[in-house]
Amino acid sequence: MNRFVIALLLGLINCIGLNAQPDRWQQAANYKMDIDFNIKKHQLSGQQTLEYTNNSPDTLDKVYYHLYFNAFKPGSDMDVRSRSIIDPDPRVRDRIVKLQKDEQGFQNIRSIKMNGKKVDSYKTEGTILIVDLKEPILPHSTVVFDMEFLAQIPQQIRRTGRFNSEGIEYSVSQWYPKMCNYDYQGWHTDQYIGREFYGIWGSFDVKITLPSNYIVAGTGLLQNKDEIGYGYSDNEPESRPKRLTWHFKADKVHDFVWAADPDYKQIAHTMKDGTVLRFFYQPGPKTTDNWTKLPPVMEEVFNFANKHFGPYPFSQYSFIQGGDGGMEYPMATLITGERKFGSLVGVSVHELMHSWYQMVLGSNELLYAWMDEGFTEYASSEVMNHLKNVGLLDGNAVMDPHIASVNNYIEFTKTGLEEPLSTHADHFNTNRAYGMAAYVKGEVFLEQLRYIIGDEAFNRGMLRYYNTWKFKHPNPNDFIRIMEKVSGIQLDWFLRYFVNTTYTIDYEVVEMRGKEVILRRNGGMPMPIDLTVILKSGEVKRYYIPLDLMLGIKSEDNTFNGFTASSPWHWVHESFSIPINEHPSEINHVQIDVSNRMADVDRTNNLWPRPMKAKEIYK
Ligand SMILES: [Zn+2]
Repeated sequence: MNRFVIALLLGLINCIGLNAQPDRWQQAANYKMDIDFNIKKHQLSGQQTLEYTNNSPDTLDKVYYHLYFNAFKPGSDMDVRSRSIIDPDPRVRDRIVKLQKDEQGFQNIRSIKMNGKKVDSYKTEGTILIVDLKEPILPHSTVVFDMEFLAQIPQQIRRTGRFNSEGIEYSVSQWYPKMCNYDYQGWHTDQYIGREFYGIWGSFDVKITLPSNYIVAGTGLLQNKDEIGYGYSDNEPESRPKRLTWHFKADKVHDFVWAADPDYKQIAHTMKDGTVLRFFYQPGPKTTDNWTKLPPVMEEVFNFANKHFGPYPFSQYSFIQGGDGGMEYPMATLITGERKFGSLVGVSVHELMHSWYQMVLGSNELLYAWMDEGFTEYASSEVMNHLKNVGLLDGNAVMDPHIASVNNYIEFTKTGLEEPLSTHADHFNTNRAYGMAAYVKGEVFLEQLRYIIGDEAFNRGMLRYYNTWKFKHPNPNDFIRIMEKVSGIQLDWFLRYFVNTTYTIDYEVVEMRGKEVILRRNGGMPMPIDLTVILKSGEVKRYYIPLDLMLGIKSEDNTFNGFTASSPWHWVHESFSIPINEHPSEINHVQIDVSNRMADVDRTNNLWPRPMKAKEIYK
């Protein structure tokens, strides 16, 4: 082989290595929509052309669409569920059942064609449209659906709707007939009850025509800036016709949101790297000051997140006053805007971090809400701590911003309300159990993982996860495989215990026998142990007990470094004895996990000798 061939081969191997991608197929959906917005009736009359590619090995004789607006009718699953769950969402409660006809939402399909031929056989079942195809969609083929629909924007109840509590006229999300995702697990045709989403990667080309005094904000890049003005362009048009058509395009997204209000003011902020941040708010005493202060803070958030979680891949992001609370969409968020500055930053950061965990890493939220909300919470905690650290936000930065969530989770395990993370998001018994699982235990999941494999591998893993799974639909196993690869540690046991069960962690230092520390596992879930020995001299010694199931040990953990590793603790044993170099007479105390990262539900027994209880002291 000559040098040229060797170089070529090496180059090829390199390419394969760099481009190693998961080989799981995924569908593709490219939407073109032309929307005529009748403001008087709050109705959208739409034409939708959907180019749908079936990359699966299966022949599809049916397709399904989401018709989310149908949830906002009395008697819908969302209405009944919101009234019957024991801890209702105060934003919904019994508000749907009280909606008058003209305040309700609906999505009526007027006609469907596939490849130019009329499809007659379709029916609506709640928020799902079932379409029986005359001709099936073959594997690896593309078809074109043409659809005409009429939708009524409901009174704002949850996320989408007209006239929110702060007077934003239209927050328009989950508003168009949206093809359900079909993946290796089959069709995802969940009835919408006000919770999660899952979409197909693709593109949107959307034209919205409405009275020209309305300012529109949303997903995608505005194509006719000069015609529009309103802060999108440096050139304000001299005059505008009575009605204007706004033309947006977005690539590599799985949804499209927009909002419209005549009072929006836009601040357009171009970051040093060229990313354009747009802020839309209704000026007033409760908004103007805080929204004006937001752009430089959010630029710092982007810079931090790009470095730690992967580069933001779009050229624009919009923070839009609207909706209720906060909700994430591709390239945009709808947030309520009349907040104190800290709260405005908090909600902006959380929703923005979904641009990584959902808008790039598009997991199925219904099945794995914790990969979406929990990972977002983890990233948000890091970001908020950083903002305090650099003085952009009031308050003191802490060593570990995730400890609060660990403690929150520990308290919740004592209520008896906990349900496994693997529960389908719609089917938790309480809103509280869902919230704790998705947001809190999801963040704690990552914190436990960081404890198990160490900071260095963990941080590398988060970036590798991003690079490997961006614009795809990762599941929990995909994530844990990445973490196994970066750490060289087996982690399947951790995934199964922490996601599929509600077993808790509880370890105890029982006693010292000579120069041996005796430990016991009281909880159902096994973990490796960081053991710290603090000598009377003040010197600190660190011992590490790996779990046998890991078949490896962590390395380079900033929080717990310079340790001596013992032989592994086989999980089948309740107790473990670790030899140390120090004699009890030299020791002030021995403690399990000084960092408090491990979610040990009873920390009172983590110390030896046990601190005396108040009762004992005053005996
Ligand atoms: Zn969220």
